[in-house]
Amino acid sequence: MTQTITVIRGDGIGPEIMDATLHVLDAMNVGLAYEEADAGLVALEKHGELLPQATMDSIRRNRIALKSPLTTPVGEGFSSINVELRKRFDLYANVRPAKSFPNTKSRFASGVDLITVRENTEGAYIGEGQSITEDGETATLMQKITRKGSERIVRYAFDLAVKTGRKKVTVVHKANILKSTSGLFLKVAREIAAQYPQIECNEMIVDNTCMQLVMRPEQFDIIVTTNLFGDIISDLCAGLVGGLGLAPGANIGKDAAIFEAVHGTAPDIAGQGKANPCALLLGAAQMLDHLAKPDDATRLRNAVVATLEARDSLTPDLGGSGNTMSFAKAIATRI
Ligand code: ATP
Ligand code: MG
Repeated sequence: MTQTITVIRGDGIGPEIMDATLHVLDAMNVGLAYEEADAGLVALEKHGELLPQATMDSIRRNRIALKSPLTTPVGEGFSSINVELRKRFDLYANVRPAKSFPNTKSRFASGVDLITVRENTEGAYIGEGQSITEDGETATLMQKITRKGSERIVRYAFDLAVKTGRKKVTVVHKANILKSTSGLFLKVAREIAAQYPQIECNEMIVDNTCMQLVMRPEQFDIIVTTNLFGDIISDLCAGLVGGLGLAPGANIGKDAAIFEAVHGTAPDIAGQGKANPCALLLGAAQMLDHLAKPDDATRLRNAVVATLEARDSLTPDLGGSGNTMSFAKAIATRI
């Protein structure tokens, strides 16, 4: 059966890494059909809006989108299209794997293989209730955590552990200081954890987590945390394993899911064929997992690893002399 996905080619290096990614997906023959939709600067130029209704309809219909990075021009209504998409589709789980790959500028040669599950819809990060007094002396922000929001993200993390055969979930919090908000998150997390006796659950305060991640990252398996902590920790984890060119992410909700690269549009190298397509390709692997095609996801990840191991046609960020498409072709031959 053919599965139609919405494909958003995006801005900057977006179109290049999407061409590369679709080249590899085509070589895999996994029964995907693509419906192209515009968003970002390219949509503003073509249709006069950053997030056209047709794009929203396409994602709603297909429930799955593969998305390249987007530019949000200043003063066009949203502070970020990505944040707007998360809001409109209630994409509550931001799932970011971080894994050591061969021949990359990793802090740790091996042993990092963890997934950050970040709550995506509430907490300080969404900037609710921001104000500043007229004299500019005092600024405030509201931080809201709900039982429902905490429950569904923690449940997502434990279900992910069960589905992927992972053994441990670390709940990251600051309940010792933020007794109300982080306290509620931790309380709910303990209740949910009790329903998964087969998965080890431990709790860690966020500052200690940062130190532990840098010193002994191999102790982590799945991390679940609130929005702002997750924002910071997942970038830290991307740094541990060699940076942006290899970091994918998924935004998952009940009715839709969007798979992407963590990095931005990289205007400094756009149009030059230098962009590393791996982050979006690994996002596509997350998509295949989500589509209940775990064998295909593994096939794709293994082809990426084998190409890195062989140093075949790697892009300049990885010290190679290949380009975006030659790298993708080298991966496709190993599928
Ligand atoms: P945006 O405003 O869209 O976030 P940015 O200028 O912050 O764009 P990023 O895309 O976040 O740029 O990238 C930061 C740096 O990492 C840039 O120097 C960019 O060239 C590099 N970079 C990002 N993605 C890739 C990639 N896929 N391949 C190679 N280099 C990349
Ligand atoms: Mg950026």
